Amino acid sequence: MSTLNENQTDAQMSLARDYPELRDAVQRICSQFPGSYWRALERDSSYPTEFITALTQAGFLASLIPEEYGGSGLPLRAAAVILEEINASGCVASPGHAQMYIMGTLLRHGNETQKSYYLPKIASGELRLQAFGVTEPSSGSDTTSLKTTATKKGDHYEVNGQKVWTSRALHSDLMLLLARTTPLSEVTKKTDGLSVFIVDLKKSLGHGVEIRPIDAMINHGATEVFFDQLQVPVENLIGQEGKGFKYILDGMNAERILVGTEAVGDGRWCLNHAVKYANDRKVFGRSIGKNQGVQFPLARAHVDLEVADTMCRKAAAQFDAQMECGEAANIAKLVASEAAFKAADVAMQTLGGFSFAKEYELERKWRESRLYQIAPISTNMILSYIAQHVLGLERSY
Ligand SMILES: Cc1cc2nc3c(=O)[nH]c(=O)nc-3n(C[C@H](O)[C@H](O)[C@H](O)COP(=O)(O)OP(=O)(O)OC[C@H]3O[C@@H](n4cnc5c(N)ncnc54)[C@H](O)[C@@H]3O)c2cc1C
Repeated sequence: MSTLNENQTDAQMSLARDYPELRDAVQRICSQFPGSYWRALERDSSYPTEFITALTQAGFLASLIPEEYGGSGLPLRAAAVILEEINASGCVASPGHAQMYIMGTLLRHGNETQKSYYLPKIASGELRLQAFGVTEPSSGSDTTSLKTTATKKGDHYEVNGQKVWTSRALHSDLMLLLARTTPLSEVTKKTDGLSVFIVDLKKSLGHGVEIRPIDAMINHGATEVFFDQLQVPVENLIGQEGKGFKYILDGMNAERILVGTEAVGDGRWCLNHAVKYANDRKVFGRSIGKNQGVQFPLARAHVDLEVADTMCRKAAAQFDAQMECGEAANIAKLVASEAAFKAADVAMQTLGGFSFAKEYELERKWRESRLYQIAPISTNMILSYIAQHVLGLERSY
């Protein structure tokens, strides 16, 4: 896999089409999975197993796992570039993106036994850790009020409760689960008393775990997961009991940067598609792209995507330099989520009636690119973070 070109300075890298060889390698794989492949999957709500296998075999999904555990130990920016290129090629990064970053909690907070057991298997694809159980029906964005409990009983924890919108749970061997180990009434801070576990989903199905697919607007493998007296061995607790919320927060900056860059990829695909169409389509005897009413929204979409891309690069550079990056990661995710959907929407307008034809792929990208303003965190929650933590305004909720 490609790393930094030795002749390029960091500053040049942050402005260039960085990781060109990596981008080319991703595009080569993506070119084997055309729109018809994704349309067929959507029809059956099925998982892109062949695509994920190809990405796994090329080592892309193990890019953030250190070499000592079988990965390639690349910077976060390289992983972001992989996701961007997947979406910019017309493919879909979300079925595989979580395999890249959920393991970060295990890597940073797991013990050596856990890391040396799980990480090499995750790197090789033998184990899929790509289900992340945080959101619940009654708590939503208010994570610390979640109701799922894990009660210690000898050599195991007993888990009871429910998660919702858990992506890929039916296509994952393992789940990273956030559950309350100390009742809310017994903690001084709401953020205390939550713990993180690795749950063996495959073994637990029918033995304390039930997974029901959600019929959703996009093919995201969304599910509801029910826990009924599930026994999770104590050795599957990650880090210290009660500190799980902090561990989850730790991983959120990386997730926001990766998802933001992935959104930029979707926006680029939509814009490229629309520009090509605007140049080709002749109405009133000239290409529609000759009209300023068509050009300007496309130019504006380009401007917004460039701004988002720059912000994603800044956030990734801070993350990779181990600097504080909460502000940049949140801004990157916010501007990228909006830029991606605006580009998709402008592209819809540019294609006119044909944008509704599934064969043109645009309506799928339009639906997919709407998600980023809601998940993994909604825009209002980002604005609240910036108001409180960056501007020093009073917490509003
Ligand atoms: C396709 C999909 C995949 C997902 N995958 C996963 C997954 O794998 N794992 C997982 O744990 N979750 C997942 N989610 C859940 C996602 O993270 C949540 O939907 C998201 O965080 C918003 O939570 P909510 O839906 O409960 O909205 P709510 O918290 O109910 O909020 C609804 C709206 O109200 C706004 N709002 C709420 N409170 C305030 C406030 N105090 N101030 C201002 N505005 C407020 C929100 O910003 C939002 O716009 C997924 C969701 C979708 C749709």
